Amino acid sequence: MSRLRSLRPNLRPLSVLIASLLLMLLAGSVAYRFAQRLGLADLQATGMHRLELYSASLEREIGKYAFLPGTLTLQPEVLRLLTRPQAQTAAGVNAFLEQLNERAGTLSIYVIDRDGQVRASSNWRRPDSFVGEDLSFRPYFRDALANGNGRFFGIGTTRGEPGYYLSSALAADGEILGVAVIKVGLESLEKSWSTVEAPVLVGDENGVVILSSVADWKFTTLRPLDDETRKAFDHTQQYNRRALQPLRIKDLAALDHGARLVRIAREWPEMATVYPVVGRFLTQSRPLPGTPWTLTVFSHLEQVDDLAQSRAALAAIAAACLCMLGAIVNERRRHLRDRLAAREALQKAHDELERKVEERTADLSTANQQLQDEIAERIRAERTLRAAQDELVQAGKLAVIGQLSTGIAHELNQPLAALRTLSGNTGRFLERGDLDTARTNLGRIADLVDRMGRITGQLRNFARKSDGQSAPVPLCHAVDNALGLLEARLRRASAVVERSCPADEPVALCDANRLEQVLINLIGNALDAMAGQAAPRIELSWDSAAGRIRLAVRDHGPGLSAEAEQHLFEPFFTTKPAGDGLGLGLAISAGILRDFGGSLHGSNHPDGGAVFTLELPRHER
Ligand code: ADP
Repeated sequence: MSRLRSLRPNLRPLSVLIASLLLMLLAGSVAYRFAQRLGLADLQATGMHRLELYSASLEREIGKYAFLPGTLTLQPEVLRLLTRPQAQTAAGVNAFLEQLNERAGTLSIYVIDRDGQVRASSNWRRPDSFVGEDLSFRPYFRDALANGNGRFFGIGTTRGEPGYYLSSALAADGEILGVAVIKVGLESLEKSWSTVEAPVLVGDENGVVILSSVADWKFTTLRPLDDETRKAFDHTQQYNRRALQPLRIKDLAALDHGARLVRIAREWPEMATVYPVVGRFLTQSRPLPGTPWTLTVFSHLEQVDDLAQSRAALAAIAAACLCMLGAIVNERRRHLRDRLAAREALQKAHDELERKVEERTADLSTANQQLQDEIAERIRAERTLRAAQDELVQAGKLAVIGQLSTGIAHELNQPLAALRTLSGNTGRFLERGDLDTARTNLGRIADLVDRMGRITGQLRNFARKSDGQSAPVPLCHAVDNALGLLEARLRRASAVVERSCPADEPVALCDANRLEQVLINLIGNALDAMAGQAAPRIELSWDSAAGRIRLAVRDHGPGLSAEAEQHLFEPFFTTKPAGDGLGLGLAISAGILRDFGGSLHGSNHPDGGAVFTLELPRHER
């Protein structure tokens, strides 16, 4: 199927070519026929004209001599010769006929008596003179006796000269005495055709060509002769035993008004004519009045054929031009159609694209809206989470404060008791008038109040809810604050904290309050781990590299158990007895450091004890 389709475009030009050729052929043949028909009609009209012209000239030529034999009746000598033949009379008539023949330009003139014997002749001097000959067998003699005159074409029996015989009966007092005959030569008749433009012939009653503008056609036959006719010719010696070969005219078609299309194929040896005598001809014939002869004009079809051929060629060329024009118009129309289709397809594709773009834009705006909603939701969730986290951090802080509260209370109790004692003592010293001691006591009271203020100040600072914003925090300072809050605990546990602050104090980026919370958690856990030890020791060491600050808090406790190592930063994981620990300290601390871009890591020290390392981004000054 697809193969067929691929062949179709190749077949199209071929079929167009074949159709064009057929059209050219059709146009050519129609034009040929039409032109030939027109040409033939033209030729027929010309032929008819020629026919009339030639027959009129021939009639005129014959008519010139027709009266001549009859005039001999007017010669008394001729009549006398026929009634009383005498040698003297005969000599006179011979001389008269000789003269007349010469003047008229005829072949011969002679007088025959009733019995058919020639009595006098214009050629009396010549050895082959007709005088004395018996011509009673000649048809023109018999016709003249029977009808008064006769016409005959024949070839002379004596000299074999062809001629036209015109005879008239010579009568006196109603009695026929003899016959006068003149013989006209063919040349003088043919003279009238000296200017013909086409072959012309005259056939006699036997179908023998007796006159023709083509010399070679003379004494040929227009139709076949049977043996009987040929025998009759021998008897009358009409054609003087000439061969009488057929002209061989082949009939091709019969047209109107007796016209025919014929072909003459025979070539003649001495053919020298100004017009063609071989080929296809249009023949037109008419009888010559007063004779049994037929005049035929041959019009050659060469011109008609040539004209028809050139018209056919012209028509074929016109058809070819028409086909080409049609092909060009068709090609142009096809081109336009293709362009239109392409434009339509382009418009369609454009519309489709636009529709898709609109769809996508709508999708995109929906997705965008969804994304915005989602982001808003996330922000809301994050805020909620952060709020929850802040609450958690605060809760963790309060838990630390709770843990610290015993120590702080203890820490405040001592100065309060001292204040109580000092204030009592001071009163007594004032009563005694010991103003110096009283002044000293008041100074100590002021110191104690300052100390208590510091403690509550630290606690208040720690307890406040921070906003969690990043800011440069000097680490040593944060450590001091944390240790300050844990001071009472550390003292109670007799713990030693080893720390050194480098000259170039490291500054981290984070929230100071929250960092203190982390440090209190880590140092608190270390103290918890070393609870019961005689000399607990905590080591704080610094390290900084590549924009980061690391602080390690190491204790000398039992270290992290395997379970603790696995769940260290999980919320609510604790190994401490209920009421001592919530299991949130490390989880909150890790969360705080993560919020500031840092991290918390816990492991066992190779030499025993646990070590927690916190890492924070360094603030570059
Ligand atoms: P809590 O202190 O309330 O138990 P934490 O999250 O601070 O909660 O600690 C969780 C647990 O981690 C502790 O119960 C303890 O078992 C272990 N831990 C923390 N710090 C240390 C330490 N320095 N040495 C040994 N174990 C520790």
